[in-house]
Amino acid sequence: MADKSAAQSLKDKLFLKNDGIKGINDVHLKASEQFAKGYKVFLDNAKTEREAVAFIIDLAKQNGYSEFKAGKQYKSGDKYYINNRSKAVALVMVGKESAKNGINISAAHIDSPRLDLKPNPLYEEADMALLKTHYYGGIKKYQWTAIPLALHGVFALKNGEVINVCIGEDENEPCFVVNDLLPHLATEQNKRTLNEGIKGEELNILVGSYPFKDCEESESVKLNILNILFEKYGVTEADFLSAELMAVPAFKARDIGFDGSLVGAYGHDDRVCAYAELIALMDTKNPTKTCVAVFADKEEVGSNGNTGLASDFIKHIVRDIADYSDTNVFEVLKNSRCLSADVNAAFDPTFSDVNERRNASYINKGVVITKYTGSRGKSGTSDASAEYVASIRNMLDNANIIWQTGELGKVDAGGGGTVAMFIANLGVDVVDLGVPVLSMHAPFETISKFDLYEAYRAFLEFNK
Ligand code: MN
Ligand code: MN
Repeated sequence: MADKSAAQSLKDKLFLKNDGIKGINDVHLKASEQFAKGYKVFLDNAKTEREAVAFIIDLAKQNGYSEFKAGKQYKSGDKYYINNRSKAVALVMVGKESAKNGINISAAHIDSPRLDLKPNPLYEEADMALLKTHYYGGIKKYQWTAIPLALHGVFALKNGEVINVCIGEDENEPCFVVNDLLPHLATEQNKRTLNEGIKGEELNILVGSYPFKDCEESESVKLNILNILFEKYGVTEADFLSAELMAVPAFKARDIGFDGSLVGAYGHDDRVCAYAELIALMDTKNPTKTCVAVFADKEEVGSNGNTGLASDFIKHIVRDIADYSDTNVFEVLKNSRCLSADVNAAFDPTFSDVNERRNASYINKGVVITKYTGSRGKSGTSDASAEYVASIRNMLDNANIIWQTGELGKVDAGGGGTVAMFIANLGVDVVDLGVPVLSMHAPFETISKFDLYEAYRAFLEFNK
């Protein structure tokens, strides 16, 4: 019979082990605290894909990136960005090796669930002015009532001018709200299923109540609001027809917990991976392979459209790389690898029955590798190959990066997808790597600072 210590050492050798944050030294933890400070600034300044693109390009320019010029002969060390309609962007750092041997792509998305305004949103009823919305992405609709909302986006005018809107973020300016029914009168509403607790057409945003001064006309409150918008932005009601305006939570990113170990904010999915990917590229020096960091739009609605990754956006970027590298787009793609940078659902002890504990991801156990997503028998996923996962495992372990595996919920509990399959379909090796999130898609989501920092370290290592 083997003695206890022999069994113990055999266990150490053979069992899968992840102590996560336990045993991490103070210097490492301090570094993750510091990293989260920059992340919170990003969160507060980039609540929409357009604002994220502006932030990313701004930081890239400060770090020596300039706008891509077709036909230019780029060489090792050159840095440029490709702005796709101000809603998606890619940053490229040219490596020492020819792109013929493949490139390293990291791809996050910068759109998040929210309430979009309808094309003709403004109306007056019961002496209040309201805006009709159509929600964007997967939300639990009841969560979006009775919280402060800010309005972000653009009016695009017929003359080509684009007017930026951002109102409700500054504490000195007004914000907006979707009202809910008081519990006293909610007897009927309480009988609805949670999904229908608030219906899509009940997500109407309150935007004012003063009538236009000395006005005998009907709809004087609506008139007053349009007058304010005309004075502030020079727009009329018709200009809503060519606008992209969205209501997002007006909260700022905050530390969570007595120990401040977590960050609560709107839009961690997927700005947490976008930020880790962005800073990792800024900190990458003289990479062997060309590094491409993609920040995509439309992931929350299926990645369709010309700013989403189901489009040829990545192919265009890679074709340009192939052109100045004296090769072709297919040669580059078939030799390339990618980290699809997206979040996973963190295990929540309050709702533990949706997860299978051995394959769930946990807060403070490090960055998550998700081999496959999808639903109903791995439908709608790329499922990374064992060989590719092995190479990423090796990379993470060699760099002492704390990581874990994570499945998105237990079998047939639901499911979801990321951009991974669209890139895999181009012939690229792809696996999902990201940060576990609590309350995903809620107006206020939670992540751990430690997991964020490990994600940053993973992207940095991948670029090397
Ligand atoms: Mn996501
Ligand atoms: Mn999502």
